[in-house]
Amino acid sequence: MPAYEPVIGLEVHAELQTRSKMFCSCPVVDLTTAEPNTAVCEVCAGMPGTLPVINERAVEYALRVALALDCQIHQQSIFARKNYFYPDLPKGYQISQYELPLATQGRLIIRTSQGERAVRIRRVHLEEDTGKLTHVERNGERYSLVDLNRAGVPLLEIVSEPDLHSVEEVRAYATTLRQLLRYLGVNSGDMQKGVIRFEANVSVRPVGSNQLGTRVEIKNLNSFRALEESVAYEIERQIRILERGGRVEQQTLGWDEARRVTVPQRSKEEAHDYRYFPEPDLPPLLIDDAWLERVRQSLPEMPWARYRRFREAYGLSEYDAGLLTAEKAVADFYEAAVAASQGQVPPKMVANWLLSEVFRWLNEHGKSITELPFDAKAFAALLRAVHTGAINKNTGQKVLAEMFATGQHPDRIIEAKGLRQISDADQIQAWVNEVLDAHPKEVAKYLAGKTSVINWLFGQVMRRARGRANPQAVRQALEAALKRRADIAD
Ligand code: ADP
Ligand code: MG
Ligand code: ZN
Repeated sequence: MPAYEPVIGLEVHAELQTRSKMFCSCPVVDLTTAEPNTAVCEVCAGMPGTLPVINERAVEYALRVALALDCQIHQQSIFARKNYFYPDLPKGYQISQYELPLATQGRLIIRTSQGERAVRIRRVHLEEDTGKLTHVERNGERYSLVDLNRAGVPLLEIVSEPDLHSVEEVRAYATTLRQLLRYLGVNSGDMQKGVIRFEANVSVRPVGSNQLGTRVEIKNLNSFRALEESVAYEIERQIRILERGGRVEQQTLGWDEARRVTVPQRSKEEAHDYRYFPEPDLPPLLIDDAWLERVRQSLPEMPWARYRRFREAYGLSEYDAGLLTAEKAVADFYEAAVAASQGQVPPKMVANWLLSEVFRWLNEHGKSITELPFDAKAFAALLRAVHTGAINKNTGQKVLAEMFATGQHPDRIIEAKGLRQISDADQIQAWVNEVLDAHPKEVAKYLAGKTSVINWLFGQVMRRARGRANPQAVRQALEAALKRRADIAD
């Protein structure tokens, strides 16, 4: 029996979060909080006699994405009407791009357990979003509510070639694309608000074949989880059909979240069913060299480039570099802290504290790094105090807790609470002697060979020092003192 290889191509719809809509001046509002139908005008409600006007900022955002994806930019592209009837589409057509899209032939580098790979991008085009339907059932009556706040919101469609061959690659592609959109500042990445949606085209073929199998298209996937689960389900379903000697039917499917199965939807339209034709109300979209160059210059460092640089410049592990570059704001904070530490704190230590202590607090409080009550400089000052031994690690964690709570500068907290680390040898010696004198039984146990008791004694000394003693110095003094007592006992 031949082994089968999955073949997947993704279509990603991302809202471009401009201030106003694609073809009118209505604001782009948060669908989850705005009153329905409060951001609607004649244009986006599809009144006869109105005319669309292209949103320059939306084009600029689209160019950012297309350039970041290494696409070939078409400096002249054409808007087209995609005609179909649906209650969320007031005009009876969607303005999109078809034969001549904004950009084609790009690529996105993804990272999986197999290493790095380029996934080819087929096209990137601009269009407008539809309204939103809410299906309700009340007192036995079923009806649908229409909210046109989303109608006309700029939408970017990014279509990959069928280059993905596992669920892992699908996940990597989708998350990398989301990361990129956020880096570019064109989309919040807030999946719960539906600002990014996926469609997965899935087929399978015998390993070694270079022909494409019959594909299905899974529509309306609004989360990474739905994307991954539905693709995994389809791969298995199709392999089972082929193993039985059957044929996969080309169809459009939906994903039933509750039952976790794909379900057939309306049969797939062919392009001619949409009766695409050039939008007569809009001129061709022209992008001159100067504009293109301006956008190119404005691009930030790409996440994958930053990842590589973090690994090389700061000696970070794949895992740490991945976490630190996942979000631009995190990477910015990290680099600002490293810079502020002026070479006095190892970059690896900055990474450790950020990824453990700070991330834990952010997770616990459901906050993002931009909401920290202190800046990267203050964070660097704390780490400098720990690294130079002004305070010990434990005290550092306590100071950080105080910084989270009050936003105060670490130096002020250390001074105000008298937390400065004590390394004075005489003082430490005195604490060690006090502890050993106070606990003759434990000392005897240690001398009798139960050396792990030293950890308990260490704790007692630190306690006497109210946590401020230099731990290395305490350990050394403790070992030396116990050794002296052992020599005497011999
Ligand atoms: P449509 O616009 O009708 O959905 P396209 O030809 O534009 O069709 O393809 C859409 C997506 O389907 C692309 O991402 C493409 O890579 C993918 N695709 C096309 N053929 C296959 C196939 N046989 N198996 C998996 N994906 C496919
Ligand atoms: Mg499609
Ligand atoms: Zn409007």
